[in-house]
Amino acid sequence: MIKVCKFGGTSMSDGTNIRRVADIFTSDPSRRYLVVSAPGKRFGGDAKITDLLYDTHRALEKGAPLTAYLKVKERFFGIVRELGLSFDVGRLLAETEAQIVRERNEAFTASRGEYLAAQVMAEFLEIPFIDAKDVVRFTRDGRLDGAQTFSLMASALRGKRCAVIAGFYGADDTGRVHTFSRGGSDVTGAIVARAVGADLYENWTDVSGFLACDPKIVDAPARITSLSYRELRELSYMGANVLHSESIFPVREANIPILIKNTFRPEDEGTRIMPAAGYIPSARPVTGIAGKKDFAVIFIEKSLMNSEIGFARKILSVFERHALNFEHMPSGIDTISFVIDEGELQEGMLEEIRREICEEVSPDQYKTLTGIALIAVVGHGMSRTVGTAARLFDAIARAGVNVRMIDQGSSELNIIVGVDNENYERTVRAVYDEFFR
Ligand code: ASP
Repeated sequence: MIKVCKFGGTSMSDGTNIRRVADIFTSDPSRRYLVVSAPGKRFGGDAKITDLLYDTHRALEKGAPLTAYLKVKERFFGIVRELGLSFDVGRLLAETEAQIVRERNEAFTASRGEYLAAQVMAEFLEIPFIDAKDVVRFTRDGRLDGAQTFSLMASALRGKRCAVIAGFYGADDTGRVHTFSRGGSDVTGAIVARAVGADLYENWTDVSGFLACDPKIVDAPARITSLSYRELRELSYMGANVLHSESIFPVREANIPILIKNTFRPEDEGTRIMPAAGYIPSARPVTGIAGKKDFAVIFIEKSLMNSEIGFARKILSVFERHALNFEHMPSGIDTISFVIDEGELQEGMLEEIRREICEEVSPDQYKTLTGIALIAVVGHGMSRTVGTAARLFDAIARAGVNVRMIDQGSSELNIIVGVDNENYERTVRAVYDEFFR
């Protein structure tokens, strides 16, 4: 049995917590490989090491003094002292500072939190440290090269009973460092699990797993004890952010289950994320609810669009010209809509797109809605249970909310409902009450 464990920033935040991590790691001999994040916040208002490093890079660009890096140094000196290590962290911090100044690469600077934390952890546990730059391979334009990475990682770990691997970053074939997006140590953990053919990927964080909906909206929501990769993907894409959404792919292909655990309450059951084989859907039709605000929706209507060859392609080429992603594309017989994250839109872009699409396909109707919140209601149980959609829309109607858009994924795993931003919380509460109370 091989377990790969990843510990997040809160678990790594100071000496006391790092000891806790070490105790958890060593208490089970099947826990073999440890992936760590940079130290996170110790208390409300504290700074994350990664944020301080981004500040360091900004200061460097402006030619300002690197005061943020002084804070990074203080934190690591404190940790090493608390752990009672004789390891010369001062030298490592000074070398790192010199490299940061030399490289002037934001990703390089940001990655140093994991680089340093993993070395401290390896010293404390007296096991080898693996620098992610040697084993996580990115393309030169910053995408993960999965095939190369799995093979580099597997050969670096072959023959090592245990090791600590720095999360969050890797390098391209020229040695330039790249990072995943924020929270990306989860992805590194999944890569390690896949590379060593782990039986379980344990992801240790500061919550006891997934909740059925956002606790900021619903008081003490139910805990999800098990869910499938696909349910997780839908929920995390929509904002349930316990786990980085890209961390599913490496383990999913290899059918490795993920267990989310709480470093500060290790006795809690946590949430188990299962491959399709072996997953028993919960008795409830709905497993979880997630959502996000601030989307724009473009509605296009044209009768007989189904018989017009190239209709969708012409519209899509407009999006492509503007290098604009769309999130969903709900469609009907004579209608097609596009859901766009408003954060992706530049000034005036919606108007330009309208003009170009109208030129390309001369629709009968063209309408843009902005300020839309999407709510995803997710569960394998929905396709088996008659009347789920009726209950959902009835609950929303009883809450007095007008539904602006509906998209049912073709997998019948989710129904996405669009409402005005101001109705977001009310809708989530109504849906939660309907399916969970
Ligand atoms: N330290 C990085 C961040 O704060 C990556 C991680 O914690 O997973 O985003």
